[in-house]
Amino acid sequence: MASRDPAEILALLDAQKRALMEQGDEDLRPSHGADSIEKVDDDAAPLSEMTQVIASRRNKERTVKLQAIERAMVRVREDPEMYGHCVTCEEPIAPRRLEVVPWADRCLACQEGGEEDGARRGSRRHLRDFD
Ligand SMILES: [Zn+2]
Repeated sequence: MASRDPAEILALLDAQKRALMEQGDEDLRPSHGADSIEKVDDDAAPLSEMTQVIASRRNKERTVKLQAIERAMVRVREDPEMYGHCVTCEEPIAPRRLEVVPWADRCLACQEGGEEDGARRGSRRHLRDFD
C-alpha cells in the first residue's frame, strides 16, 4: 500500500482540527444577552437546563475529538510510518476507517475491545452461560 505523505496527513488533520475549533463551544449562556439570567421563568428553566446539559456534553465530545486529532498529529510528526497502524496491535487500520476517522489510533477490533470508558459494547464476550 502506498504510504501517504505525512505533510498531507498533517494538513488533513489540521483542517479537521480547525473545522472543530471554528464550531466553537456551544453557548452555555444565553447568547443574545437581552434578558437577564435571573429572569428565566419557571417553565423555561427545566428546558434550558436540559439544553445546557446537551451543550456541555457536545462540548466534551468535541474536546475529546480535538485531543484525539492532536494526538494523531503528534504521532504523524514523531513516527509517520506508524500512522494508519493500530497503536495496540500494530495492524494497519482499514483505509475506509481512516477516511472517516483520520485521527483513529486503533483498529476497529481494538477500539471495540478496549473501550476505556463506556461499556457500550464489548461486554458481550464476557457473558457466560451458567449452565
Ligand atoms: Zn488493533
